[in-house]
Amino acid sequence: MTDQPIRHILSLSGGKDSTALAILMRDRIPEMEYIFCDTEQELPETYEYLDRLEVYLGKKIEKLTYEGGGFEELLQARRGFLPSAQARWCTELLKIKPFEKYVGDDICYSYIGIRADEQHRKGYISTKPNIIAQYPFIEAEINKPDVFRMLEESGLGIPKYYEWRSRSGCYFCFFQQRVEWVGLLENHPDLYEKAKKFEKENSETGERYTWAARESLNELQVPSRVATIKEEHLHRQEMLNARFKGNQTLNQVFNDDDSADEGCLICHL
Ligand code: SF4
Repeated sequence: MTDQPIRHILSLSGGKDSTALAILMRDRIPEMEYIFCDTEQELPETYEYLDRLEVYLGKKIEKLTYEGGGFEELLQARRGFLPSAQARWCTELLKIKPFEKYVGDDICYSYIGIRADEQHRKGYISTKPNIIAQYPFIEAEINKPDVFRMLEESGLGIPKYYEWRSRSGCYFCFFQQRVEWVGLLENHPDLYEKAKKFEKENSETGERYTWAARESLNELQVPSRVATIKEEHLHRQEMLNARFKGNQTLNQVFNDDDSADEGCLICHL
């Protein structure tokens, strides 16, 4: 046993689950430290939501950044090789490293917003032995409808980007679905243009670095392609509606797609 005091840290992503967890923990652990690993490539809605959460918590949310450079510098050092689900250097450098540096060698409980209905996502991304993961939602059997209810009751509601996107994280996140790229195009055309500039194509070798598989953002924004993407999305939603026969709660549970793949725990919870 050690006499070293244990720190309590809750890492926010700007998403619904970590926000609901902060709401739950505010009065339970007054000494909680709230942090946000800022890639500096987040959506404006995320920063706005975190500002409102800060007011609700009555406590500052520490914004942590990677000291080894910003996204563009890191991308340049990788000769334009975009991060992807297979090469997720962005998460490692811009999210995990700043978090681990902040904790240092202190023993800390790290509170993670994995819900009772998604226990398969359990598994923390830090391998440091002094960082001990805690899962209060699982212990309290809190599931997705509870999270929506907590957000509603707190007055914070859900982040505004949920109108067109199902996850928090960088505006160019490669985990987003094609319909979410369309959402970015329509809601933040400036950020869509920025994301496009990171894509590269070598006309001689035919080699392409694109955010979405097999499709560049230039190709995706063609009006006929946008229409197809929207139609396919609508069709999928109609199928879900029919499956749950208008049960909005169940529909909400299954329709925001955060169970579709692992995504990135530290970015998307
Ligand atoms: S949100 Fe996506 S792009 Fe941003 S750090 Fe996480 S995985 Fe990478």
